[in-house]
Amino acid sequence: MSLPIVFYGNPILRAKGLEIPKITAEIKHLAEAMIETMHAARGVGLAAQQIGRALQLTVIDLREVDRPSQLLLGTREVPAESMMPMVLLNPRITQSQGEEDGNEGCLSFPGINADIRRSATVQVSALGLREEPLRITATGLLARVLQHEIDHLNGVLFIDRMPRETLKSLETELRKLEKSTLSGLKKRPRDR
Ligand code: ZN
Repeated sequence: MSLPIVFYGNPILRAKGLEIPKITAEIKHLAEAMIETMHAARGVGLAAQQIGRALQLTVIDLREVDRPSQLLLGTREVPAESMMPMVLLNPRITQSQGEEDGNEGCLSFPGINADIRRSATVQVSALGLREEPLRITATGLLARVLQHEIDHLNGVLFIDRMPRETLKSLETELRKLEKSTLSGLKKRPRDR
């Protein structure tokens, strides 16, 4: 089941996600629905806040995008595609290295793209959907998407990381999006 995506202006996007203490059937269903939602929207990642839930849960799938990534699982290099779609619970960045500029969009900001500076390599600890502890080292697009999604889980948005000039040039567009989201919330207050 594809879920409605929450847009910029909805306060849930600023909420820090609650840690998931136990992987229940409800969490598994939610993860599945988030994967479907991400695929339907042709996104490469989706955080729980973006479907209106403040939880430490994100899904990632890079298979449709032609931008390289490297992935180590522990110390073993594995093809990134073999882990997709990836479901991560309670992910934390434990180490990061280097810097890289790259273009990003976000399903909660339709039509908005910008170059954002991120760490080039990150190490992430998380739980997988079978409660298995994961230690992931990623570079390339995967490193970028992990940082973008883990930001979401902490209520941080890519506009917070944009250079001031970029943000300024998007100001009108952002205000418009925020306004239309807020007026939608007023009309259907119990939807989200
Ligand atoms: Zn996003």
